Amino acid sequence: MNSLATAPGAHAGWVVVKFGGTSVSTRPRWDTIRRIANDWHARGKRVLIVVSALSGITDKLKAIAEAGGDRSRREALRAEIVARHEAMFAELGLTERAPLQYWLDRLTALAVDARAETGDLPWQAEVLALGEQLSSTLGQAYLTAQGLATRWLDAREHLLAQAMPNQTAWGCYLSASVPTAPDPALAAALAAHADVFISQGFMARNADGETVILGRGGSDTSAAYFGALLKAEKVEIWTDVAGMFSANPRIVPAARLLSRLDYEEAQEIATTGAKVLHPRCLNPVREAQVPLAVRDTNRPELAGTEIGATVAAAAPSVKAVSERRGITLISMESIGMWQQVGFLADVFERFKRHGLSIDLIGSAETNVTVSLDPSENLVNSDVLSALAADLAEVCRVKVIAPCAAITLVGRGMRSLLPRLAGVLAEFDLLRVHLVSQSSNNLNLTIVVDEAAADGLVPTLHAALVKSEALRAEDPAVFGPAWSELYASAAPGHETPWWQQRRDDLLALAAQSTPRYVYDLATVRERARRLRALAAPDRWFYALKANSRPELLQVIAEAGLGLECVSPAELELAATLVPSERLLFTPNFAPRAEYAAAFARGARVTLDNLHPLQHWGETFRGREILLRVDLGAGRGHHDKVRTGGAGSKFGLSLDQIEEFRQLARRHDVAVVGLHAHLGSGILDAQHWREVYAQLAALAQRFTRIEAINIGGGLGVPARADEAVLDLAALDACLTEIKQAYPQFELWMEPGRYLVAEAGVLLARVTQTKRKGDYCYVGVDTGMNSLIRPALYEAWHEIVNLTRLDEPADTLYQVVGPICESGDVLGSNRRLPGCREGDVILIAQAGAYGATMASRYNLREPAAESVI
Ligand SMILES: *Cc1c(COP(=O)(O)O)cnc(C)c1O
Repeated sequence: MNSLATAPGAHAGWVVVKFGGTSVSTRPRWDTIRRIANDWHARGKRVLIVVSALSGITDKLKAIAEAGGDRSRREALRAEIVARHEAMFAELGLTERAPLQYWLDRLTALAVDARAETGDLPWQAEVLALGEQLSSTLGQAYLTAQGLATRWLDAREHLLAQAMPNQTAWGCYLSASVPTAPDPALAAALAAHADVFISQGFMARNADGETVILGRGGSDTSAAYFGALLKAEKVEIWTDVAGMFSANPRIVPAARLLSRLDYEEAQEIATTGAKVLHPRCLNPVREAQVPLAVRDTNRPELAGTEIGATVAAAAPSVKAVSERRGITLISMESIGMWQQVGFLADVFERFKRHGLSIDLIGSAETNVTVSLDPSENLVNSDVLSALAADLAEVCRVKVIAPCAAITLVGRGMRSLLPRLAGVLAEFDLLRVHLVSQSSNNLNLTIVVDEAAADGLVPTLHAALVKSEALRAEDPAVFGPAWSELYASAAPGHETPWWQQRRDDLLALAAQSTPRYVYDLATVRERARRLRALAAPDRWFYALKANSRPELLQVIAEAGLGLECVSPAELELAATLVPSERLLFTPNFAPRAEYAAAFARGARVTLDNLHPLQHWGETFRGREILLRVDLGAGRGHHDKVRTGGAGSKFGLSLDQIEEFRQLARRHDVAVVGLHAHLGSGILDAQHWREVYAQLAALAQRFTRIEAINIGGGLGVPARADEAVLDLAALDACLTEIKQAYPQFELWMEPGRYLVAEAGVLLARVTQTKRKGDYCYVGVDTGMNSLIRPALYEAWHEIVNLTRLDEPADTLYQVVGPICESGDVLGSNRRLPGCREGDVILIAQAGAYGATMASRYNLREPAAESVI
């Protein structure tokens, strides 16, 4: 493992890797640390591992430090800490007790130290430091036992804290700072001893040799200090998320990973709300020009966020939107003295007196408003009223709280302002207290009432992406969305069949590609699911979604009728189901097609006045259904919405009376009302509304027997989309049917039955790199599957040949058609693709082969059924 052949040379560079509490708390996590450190070592680097305390331990040590005279509480906490480390010692299978025992004895001694009674600050610092001293001791033993010779390094020997001006005694011991500059002598001295070291985060020593603590974010900061001292080639902060995101992913799952940031941008994002990285750790690495990366311990294949001096030239973009709550604003009306010499000095002196640091400043003719950030200040009502009393000597004071500060971060913010018009419209302008554009041109902050901030960040993020002020698709800056990386599938998603049948699919692909493959069992199962619903009386499958005879057979056997939109579809359908199960719902069809449909015995749906106005004889004495336009379309894309004046489908509601009169004149009976408003709908309530509206309309006719509420049952494309809740659909339809027991309920799904049953297999032809884009080309494109180009439809894409390899490259998956829209999927993370690999495009069973063309005279994909 520690092979001599790759041992770092005399001038080998350093890499500092830091692991937080959860990353050091189990044996498997230590194995990950070993792998990561070993990888660097094998690449010829010297490695310094910086660790936090086992999770929960720092809190317990803090409780000891603050227990004051409560001896028994200290003793109880001490016992818990000892037990936790004994357990870890056993879990790691360690045998040599002495090093651990040394620190456990220190703990015991400190817990009974006389200084505990008064909470003496130097004593507190020593207590707090124990967590990292213990964890690094266990880690040193384990890594070495596992074959990675690791040397323990006392952080306090190398990090020397310096008191800051105005720093309190508390700050000196418990929130210390370490000025660092590269120290080549230290790097050389360490290199003489070993290749791999482990040290403690969170601590340093002061000029008197006492232990001091670095305060919040301390372990990240330690790694940054060491990175600067050693002039490391890289500092890696390993944590539980892939890096920094364009917004807090807990409230904005669409937030994008920030792949690359410069130090200043990262600093702004960390300061204005992101919790992944403590802002204090950026200064040391920036000054020493050491790149820093934030990476996910659970997903080491991801590159995370890289922070460095220069960022690949990219167009200006908002990088992130963040939010800080609990902000207090102090508004000061200067009684006509604002321009007077010394006014601001008088005001700010009073903030200093109360130990308050100011964040944002806004000024007007007679007013200065400043904000206090709770993460930098101890803001409580006592402090505020004392401050207000003092300020009242020089101005009129108003305290506005609680507020939220919403910040947009991005280099060159001013040049982005024109794009932000629509975004800023999301703010309720009446409630904006302060707008501040930073003098470094990196941020724009808007302070609003906290109550007005709810939901604002997700809305702003969406608006920023939409306006392209946040250029989410720019791979020089942004990676995948958090939801793509982590979203555990929303409930109801099943493992797709093709994962189990990978070998069969690869065998089929070996015969020829491109090729659609359909799984009949999936179609059968979907049909069974629909037939199990109680409310609908009749089902018709819209066969334009997929007209493979084998699939139609399965659907017909399940008892569904077939909904057709052309004579050829009718002809095919008539070979599979009896005529009373045929529905003909064409649009702008010529007269002869209606006549032919009647001749076949199909049920015919009209959606216009024209046929009855001009071809009355064709319809005389017939029963028909009437398709109406209920006024607004629904669905996953403009092009699949089939309602509203902009859509060519359906009779306008204001023409119903005229239609009725025409029908009476030609002795045509309207026996059903129909509406189909769009495709890909995932909300069950939609069909309830359609039913309610059609049933109400039915009162204006005398012979209505059936209410056909259309299809459009959606199949979620992405794992984080909710699935259509069939039980809820059935329940709400059953309920509304009870109000209209006289009508039959019909539905006509297409996509739902077949989308997931089909995949498109294609073979990699070429790969290409252009600028920051990687393209992977496959042997078919929009000629086989036009949905991405036509509807911006999102289809999951995997490299079936390399299903088990880490998906670590961002690809544009494109076809061979001479059309720039010939993109099957953009920004997809796939394993490195090679010529000949089989690419699978999922959910291609609906509107795939049936919409294919011979564009460019390229034959579309063949079809097989399994
Ligand atoms: C296409 C179509 C359907 C089926 O739509 P899906 O979204 O595939 O369920 C149903 N009814 C009519 C009239 C259609 O044109």
